[in-house]
Amino acid sequence: MKIARFQYRKRVHWGIVDSNQLLLLKDEPYNAIRHTQIRIPLSKAKLLPPATPTKIVLVGLNYRDHARELNMSVPQEPIIFLKPVSALIGHRQPIRYPAGVKQLDYEAELAVIIKKNAHCLSTKKIKDYILGYTCLNDVTARDLQKKDGQWTRAKSFDTFCPLGPWCETELDINHATIQSYLNGQLRQSSSTQQFIFSVERLVAFISGIMSLYPGDVISTGTPCGVGPMKRGDTIEVSISGIGILSNNVA
Ligand code: MG
Repeated sequence: MKIARFQYRKRVHWGIVDSNQLLLLKDEPYNAIRHTQIRIPLSKAKLLPPATPTKIVLVGLNYRDHARELNMSVPQEPIIFLKPVSALIGHRQPIRYPAGVKQLDYEAELAVIIKKNAHCLSTKKIKDYILGYTCLNDVTARDLQKKDGQWTRAKSFDTFCPLGPWCETELDINHATIQSYLNGQLRQSSSTQQFIFSVERLVAFISGIMSLYPGDVISTGTPCGVGPMKRGDTIEVSISGIGILSNNVA
């Protein structure tokens, strides 16, 4: 099931994607999915990020192919960092290229959306705590990341966290194909089979550090092939079973 969050006639709604329509939900999907009989054409809705997080937790190096590409050894523990919720944008909303940034990179990632309060989980119980999966672009000002050492500035500008187009509740997370396309040209192509740390391991690890709340987002790292974007470019993150997240660089 694909769950979308969207704006329609100036109001924000949740709905289930049913081919070219959205079946309206009564409320947020975290507790239970209760639908109405109201249908809205998908083409009339503006898709928003399909989660309302209190925090966005991202993982550094987590693909074996990316570690090889960077000539780095595989980390013993996940390396995590945060993006602020003010960085979130949805499908087809523009990424703003900040003045003074010299290199703006895309990073295609699979993101997990948390369903209920989670604290110190064991890896066995994780599935009960996940609402679903979506595409995330971990937009990064690479020059600032190298300059600062700390990653916060480089990762946190407004619009640096495209998320969407919707949340897919059913996904074979260990066999998903993940790709990015810059202006229609394939730039990243990998599989979650390349994960260093599984989704279960990441969610358990992070829940042992900070409590997770409904709507929180965990992103699972990017595969090899990251690269720069220019103003006017279109960047797409495509994950099999979910869909395509597309954004222009303004
Ligand atoms: Mg990343």
